[in-house]
Amino acid sequence: MRMSMQNTPFNLASCIEFAGKYHSQQKVITRRVEDDKIVEHSYHDILLRVRQFANALKKLGVKHGECIGTIGLNTHRHLEAWYAISGQGAICHTINPRLAHHQLEYIINHADDQYILIDPIFWPLIEGLHKLFPNVKGYIVLTEEAFMPKTALPNVHCYETLLAAESAEFVWPEFDENSGSSLCYTSGTTGNPKGVLYTHKSNLIHSYACGLADVFGMTSADTVLVVVPLFHANSWGISYLGPIIGATIIFPGKRMDGEAIFELVDNYEVSLAAGVPTVWTALLEYADTHNKKMTSLRDVVVGGSAAPPSMLKAFKAKHDADLLHAWGMTEMSPLGTINRAVPQLKNMSEEEQFRYRIKQGRPVFGVDIKITDEDGKELPRDGKTVGHLLVKGNWVVHTYYGDDKPAVNAEGWFDTGDMATIDEFGYMEIVDRAKDLIKSGGEWISSVDMENKAMGHPDVSLAAAIGIPDEKWSERPLLVVVPKAGKTPDKQSIIDYLSSEFAKWQLPDDVVFVDEIPMTATGKFSKLTLRQQFSNHKIED
Ligand code: ADP
Repeated sequence: MRMSMQNTPFNLASCIEFAGKYHSQQKVITRRVEDDKIVEHSYHDILLRVRQFANALKKLGVKHGECIGTIGLNTHRHLEAWYAISGQGAICHTINPRLAHHQLEYIINHADDQYILIDPIFWPLIEGLHKLFPNVKGYIVLTEEAFMPKTALPNVHCYETLLAAESAEFVWPEFDENSGSSLCYTSGTTGNPKGVLYTHKSNLIHSYACGLADVFGMTSADTVLVVVPLFHANSWGISYLGPIIGATIIFPGKRMDGEAIFELVDNYEVSLAAGVPTVWTALLEYADTHNKKMTSLRDVVVGGSAAPPSMLKAFKAKHDADLLHAWGMTEMSPLGTINRAVPQLKNMSEEEQFRYRIKQGRPVFGVDIKITDEDGKELPRDGKTVGHLLVKGNWVVHTYYGDDKPAVNAEGWFDTGDMATIDEFGYMEIVDRAKDLIKSGGEWISSVDMENKAMGHPDVSLAAAIGIPDEKWSERPLLVVVPKAGKTPDKQSIIDYLSSEFAKWQLPDDVVFVDEIPMTATGKFSKLTLRQQFSNHKIED
C-alpha cells in the first residue's frame, strides 16, 4: 500500500534546526562555569555551533550508536553537545559529576564511553580517575583556551578550538527514530546504577507532552530558568521543548544559591522555572531575608522529591507564583504526573483545593498509572488506599541498558518503587518510597508527610525523617532538622507543631539538629546515609 503520509524518521537535531530557523532571535543565556560571567547566544548562533561541533566529532571518528559521556553543568556548551552528539546518531551519556568515584567508574565503562566532555571545574576528577576508564579515547574540555587545565594527559581537546576549525554546515544523517539518543543512569543508592537509554522518538513525544498547556504551558514569550540539571533525566524535557517552542532559556552554571538564582529571576524576568525543592527553599529564604519579591514568576515546576505544602503557600502568597508539583523518574524520561487544577476543584473551599494541589498531580497523556497490593491486584482510586505505584507508557523504560531481562512485568507495567494513593480525579500522591516508609509496630509512618509538616515550622529550613532500629517496635521515627539561619528551635516546639497532624505513636522519638543533611548525587536527602549515621542513635531527654 502506498503510504498516505510522510514518514521521515525523527532526529532530535531537528529541534535545534527549527529553533535556529524560526526562533533565531530567542536566546540561550548562560552563567559560565569558568568565571560566572553571563553570556548570551541566539538560537541561530547555537545552531551553527552545534553543526560545528557535530563536524568536530565526526572528525574524531565518533560513530553511530557509540556513547559519548558528558560531565557538565547547565551551560550553552553542554546543550550544544547534546544536539551534536545525538543528532549524528551517537548517544549522549550525561553523567552526574557528584556520583561517587566507584559509580563513575562503573557507568563510564558500562556505557563504553568513547570520549568524555567535561566542564573545566571538574577536570581534577579526570586527573585522578582516568586510569579507570581504559576505553576512553580522549577528553574534550567544555571551555576556551584561556581556561584549559594544565595536563600531561594525551588527547585532551579544547571545545572552542575544535569548533573554530569546523564548518557550520552539517547534513544530519537519517536513521531509525527508535535509535538511542541519550543515556542516563539512575543514582543507584543500592547496587549498581542502571542505565536508561532514551530514543529520538521517546524524547520527542515526551517533549511534546511537556509542552501541553496543562503541563508546563511554555510559550515563546517565556523566559525559562532551567535549574534542573542537563545531566539528570533530560532536564525534564525543557532543553528540547525550549528550542521547539522558542522560549528563552537561562542556564545557571555552577551557582545554585538563593542569591544567584534570585538575581537571574530578577534581571531576566524569568516567568517559568524548574528545579528540585532544595533550590526553591534557598530562593524563598533569600527573598524573605532580603525582603524581595519576584514579580515576573508565573509557574515554578518542582519535583525530584516531595515539595512541602508550605512552599506552595509561600510562592503564592509572597510572589504570586504557582508551584506546579511534578513527579517522575529517570526511568520515565522523566515526566509522570504534574499538578494543575481540574475544573471540579473550583467549587471547593480554598482549604479543600489545597489538599489536592499539594499532591504530585495527574498523569500526562502518554503515561498510565495504577496502584496495586503486594500480589499485583489493582487497588481503588479513592485517595486513601495506599499501594505500589506502577506506570506504563511511551517514554517509560522497558529494559535497562545492557540488560537482557525486561524491567517491566508481563503486562508491561514498571514498578516505580514508590507507594502512593490515586484519587477520584486521578491526582496521585506519593506517600513514600517503599524503602523509606517507617515501619513501627506493624504500622506505616510516611517520612514524606512528617518532613512536609516539619518544614512548615517557622524556624525549620530542612527536615528529613528516617526510621531507626528499635527492639520493641522494629523501627521508630527520628527527625533530622536544619534550622533556619539564626534560629534555634527546640525539640519540644517541633514535636508540638507536628502533633496537630500526627497521632502520638507516629511522632518522632527524637529530633536532632544538624548543620546540613547529606544529599544524594541528584539533590535528594540521602536517607541511606542518614540511616547509617544514626543507626546507633540514643535518645537524649
Ligand atoms: P534517582 O537517580 O535519584 O533515583 P530519579 O529522578 O529517577 O533519580 O528518582 C525518582 C524518584 O524520586 C521517584 O521514584 C520518587 O520516589 C522521587 N520523586 C520524584 N519526584 C517526586 C515528587 N514530586 N514527590 C515525591 N517524590 C518524588
